[in-house]
Amino acid sequence: MTTFTDLGLPAPILQALAAEGYETPTPIQAGAIPHVLAGRDLLGIAQTGTGKTAAFSLPILGRLTLSADKPRPRACRVLILSPTRELASQIEANIIAYAKFLRVSTTLVFGGVPVGRQIRACAPGVDVVVATPGRLIDLLNQRALTLDEVGYFVLDEADRMLDLGFMRDIQKIVGLLPKKRQSLFFSATMPPAIAKLASSLLTNPVEVAVAPVSSTAERIRQSVIFCPTRDKQAMLHGLLADDTITRALVFTRTKHGADKVVKYLNASGFKADAIHGNKSQNNRERALAAFKSGASRLLVATDIAARGIDVDGVSHVINFDIPNISETYVHRIGRTARAGADGEAVSLCGEDERSFLRDIERLIRQKVPVIEGKPGSVSAPTQAEVPYRDPRAVRGRQGQGGKPQGQSHGGGENRSNGGRPGQNRQGQQQNGQRHGAEGAPRPSAGPSRPAAPAQHRPRPAAQGAGQGAERPRGDGRRAQQPR
Ligand code: AMP
Repeated sequence: MTTFTDLGLPAPILQALAAEGYETPTPIQAGAIPHVLAGRDLLGIAQTGTGKTAAFSLPILGRLTLSADKPRPRACRVLILSPTRELASQIEANIIAYAKFLRVSTTLVFGGVPVGRQIRACAPGVDVVVATPGRLIDLLNQRALTLDEVGYFVLDEADRMLDLGFMRDIQKIVGLLPKKRQSLFFSATMPPAIAKLASSLLTNPVEVAVAPVSSTAERIRQSVIFCPTRDKQAMLHGLLADDTITRALVFTRTKHGADKVVKYLNASGFKADAIHGNKSQNNRERALAAFKSGASRLLVATDIAARGIDVDGVSHVINFDIPNISETYVHRIGRTARAGADGEAVSLCGEDERSFLRDIERLIRQKVPVIEGKPGSVSAPTQAEVPYRDPRAVRGRQGQGGKPQGQSHGGGENRSNGGRPGQNRQGQQQNGQRHGAEGAPRPSAGPSRPAAPAQHRPRPAAQGAGQGAERPRGDGRRAQQPR
C-alpha cells in the first residue's frame, strides 16, 4: 500500500500529516503528488471529498521548501482560486494544518468582508493566497497585490467557476500570471468549455481522475428528521436509546456546538467525547482511542477535526447540524458503511437548514427519506431506491397545519417510511402527539433511560452562511449570492 512517505513528501509535511491523523493517501493524492512534486502540470478530475485539497497543497508546500525565496511586498508565490468563500476558507485551513512545521504564510482573499484587512495582509508579501476571483481582481486593480511572482497556480472547481459566471474573471487573472509557472487544474466534470480552458492553462499535464464522491452515498441508509433547532438535543437523546447504534459519529458545524452537545450528552448519562480544533492533540488522541476501542460509543466532531478519522465499524453518522457544503455531507456519511458493513446516516434538519438539505439532495441526486424519530424505526429505503424530487416543486403543499399523525413535517412530498404507511414505530408511540413550534415529535424516552434534561430554551437560529459565491454584477462590483 502506498504511504505518504513513498510519495516523496518532505519530513515536516509528513509530520503534519501524522499530527492530522492521515494514514494513507487517497487515490487522487497517490496519483497526483509525485508528479506535482516533480514539477509537472496537473489536470485533476475530482470533486470535494476525494482529498483533492491535499493532492494539490501537499506537493506545492513540498516544492516551496526547496527554495528559501520570500515574496516581495504585495506579491505572492502560490495562487489558489476557488469559487466560494467556504471552499476558500477550507482550503486555507487545510494548508495551515499541513504547513504546521513549515514557515509559510497564507492569506484568504474573498468578498463580502471589508477589504482593508486583506490589503494589509498582502502588503508584506505572502507565500500562499487563496482567493475567490472577484475580490482578487479588486485587489489587483487597487495594486494591493501583484501576480508577477506566482510560481504555482491552482484553479479549483473549474466547472463551478463556469456555472457561477467567473470565466471572464479567470481569463483576466490568468493573463496576469507569469508564463513560467506550474499550473494545477481541478474540475468534477469536463464539459467542452472547461476542457478548452484547461488546455489553454496547462502544459503537457498529467491527468488524474477519480470516481465522483456522490456515489458513496448510495450504499448508506439515510434519513432526515425535521425538528426545531431548540429540540435537537432532546431528539438526539431519543435517537441514542436505539441500541443498534453501536458506534456513532455525531457531527456539528462548530466547535462550540460540539462542546454543547457533549455537555448535554454527559449530563444525560451518555459517555461522549468531542474532538475539534480547540482540543489539545493529547485530548483528541485520547478521545479517538476511546472511540476506536469501544470504551466510548459516541464521538462528537466538527468537520475539520474529523478529517483523518479512520475508524471501522461506525454504525451511525448523526448530523446534528446539516452541513452547508453539500460535499461535506457525502464525506461525513461515508464514515459509516465501510468495508461492506451496513451503515445508517441520520440528519437533524432545523428550520434554517432546509436549503442546505435541498443542495445535498441535488448533489446526491436523491431525496433523503424523512423519518420522525429513531433510526431503525422505519425501513428507510436506500438512496438507490428513492427518486430525486426537488422539494421546491411541491412547496405549495408545505406548512399546512393539522397534519395527520405520521406525515412528514414541512418536507413537502417527503414521506416518512419511504412511503410505506404504518411502519413508523416512533409515530405509534407518540399517539399523534404534537410538540414544539413545528409540530415535530419529541423522541419518546423509554422507561430505563435517564430523562432528558429540560434544556429546551429557544435560541437564535444559526446563521446559514450558505455558499458564499461571488457573482459578477453589471456594475462591476460583487454581490454575495447563495447558490
Ligand atoms: P477534500 O476533498 O480535499 O475536501 O478532502 C475531504 C476531507 O478528507 C477533508 O476533511 C480532508 O481533511 C480529508 N482528507 C484528505 N486526505 C485525507 C487522507 N489521506 N486521510 C484522511 N483524511 C483525508
